[in-house]
Amino acid sequence: MNHLKPSGPNPDLACDVLVVGAGTAGFGAAITAARAGLSVHLIEAGTKVGGVMAFCPGMPWGGGYPLGRNIGGVFAELTLRLTSMAPPAAEVRPCALENFGPEVQYDHELATLTLFEMLLEAGVHLHLGCLVGNPTLVDGRITCVACTDRRGQFNIHPRLVNDCSGDGDISARAGVPYTVGDNVGNMMAVTLSFHMNGADVDRVFADGDPYFRSYAAQGVAQGRLHPDLSKLYLMRGFHPGSVFCNTVTIRGVDGTNPDAVARATQEGRRRCAQVARFLIDSVPGFARAQMWGIGPTVGVRETRKLEAMYRLTGEDLAQSKRFDDGIVACDNPIDDVMRTTAEMTHDAAVARGDYYTIPLRTLIPRRIENLLFAGRLISADPVAFASVRGMPQCMAMGQACGVAAAQTLAKGGAVQDVDAAAVVATLQAQGLRGIGGQNLTDHPTATPGAPGALGI
Ligand SMILES: Cc1cc2nc3c(=O)[nH]c(=O)nc-3n(C[C@H](O)[C@H](O)[C@H](O)COP(=O)(O)OP(=O)(O)OC[C@H]3O[C@@H](n4cnc5c(N)ncnc54)[C@H](O)[C@@H]3O)c2cc1C
Repeated sequence: MNHLKPSGPNPDLACDVLVVGAGTAGFGAAITAARAGLSVHLIEAGTKVGGVMAFCPGMPWGGGYPLGRNIGGVFAELTLRLTSMAPPAAEVRPCALENFGPEVQYDHELATLTLFEMLLEAGVHLHLGCLVGNPTLVDGRITCVACTDRRGQFNIHPRLVNDCSGDGDISARAGVPYTVGDNVGNMMAVTLSFHMNGADVDRVFADGDPYFRSYAAQGVAQGRLHPDLSKLYLMRGFHPGSVFCNTVTIRGVDGTNPDAVARATQEGRRRCAQVARFLIDSVPGFARAQMWGIGPTVGVRETRKLEAMYRLTGEDLAQSKRFDDGIVACDNPIDDVMRTTAEMTHDAAVARGDYYTIPLRTLIPRRIENLLFAGRLISADPVAFASVRGMPQCMAMGQACGVAAAQTLAKGGAVQDVDAAAVVATLQAQGLRGIGGQNLTDHPTATPGAPGALGI
């Protein structure tokens, strides 16, 4: 008989940087700060790294190729690791939707494993199944953060906090002002994704409409599909015979409310099963397919947008602004997903052949001296937000915060005083492209499907 002793309480910890949330932004932030020699604790509430990438397994990385050029940095490094595997675990391919550049599709399990391995190689202390709670502030600085795992509560005393939690609970509790969704609280719809495996993929995609509108109309008219499914967004999965179904969207869900998220996930499971049944019965190529891999929870696109030293606007995008403190290039469209009664749209954000950059100041709060944030909680108006939120951009925002954290801690003082030019120069040295006065078009174009397709 085993006599397992219950594990004791967690000891309190001290570290240079506490990164909250192991989504794509947290990955970029943690790995970069750790590579700069800092002690980094990365705390993730879930049981896997990836954030939305883990909640919607198979979601391609979009936005990594403005003007067809690789943005560089940790995104490029990660992609290269996957494409270099035998057989390759990722590929660059054109996106089926208008106004989107090439995207990266990958083997979900190998991609999340690679994120995990890269974090370990960098020396990041990763905590899974651990929730960050309330911060304590003294004289405008976060001195202590309460965390909880199954052993109970413990405290982390960080020199600097990087909030990459998507929803920004910790920043909000620390008093950072924020807006929600479209400024009056309407957030983009959430999505529960799944795959159809065993499909005749060539047949499925033979008619060329990425939204399968004629079939969807039939399904809605027959009462077999929810009325919000008038566009069925399906795409080729990474593995042969698989179709990734990014289509079950649920409106009006407050992504910061766990009860609302749980209810949406249950409702999403019901709608996924309806869609799968409909595809098998009614859409050519699915007759022998099976539903597989429903996400563990809905993917939340939009909740809080934190107030920062600068708020990126739709007007900035329309003018293709390239800021002196721009940290990553982007030409993603305004990828709006069903706020209130709106449709799913993806109008161009910038003039054709142009791009904009995301300024570092959108990731720095106005007041708290040792807090940075990265990812989908960026300071942006609702239009700009709909463009900046791609996973490659989130990784790069995290990378920028990792560099800014290292430089702030090396010099002492407040994040608001970080030398933006020095941060941009370091990011350039780390391979980020199209920033610091350099033009993206100086770099090679990616050629989806071809050898050397990455354009790096
Ligand atoms: C349905 C959907 C489809 C999308 N489609 C695409 C696409 O095709 N291509 C693309 O590039 N982008 C897409 N996006 C956008 C992109 O996925 C997100 O903007 C991006 O992943 C956000 O990354 P993040 O790291 O900022 O936040 P998240 O991915 O949300 O990660 C935040 C992490 O923080 C953790 N966390 C939160 N609070 C706490 C806490 N208190 N303590 C500990 N951990 C905490 C969460 O568990 C989570 O893992 C899509 C998003 C959604 C939801």
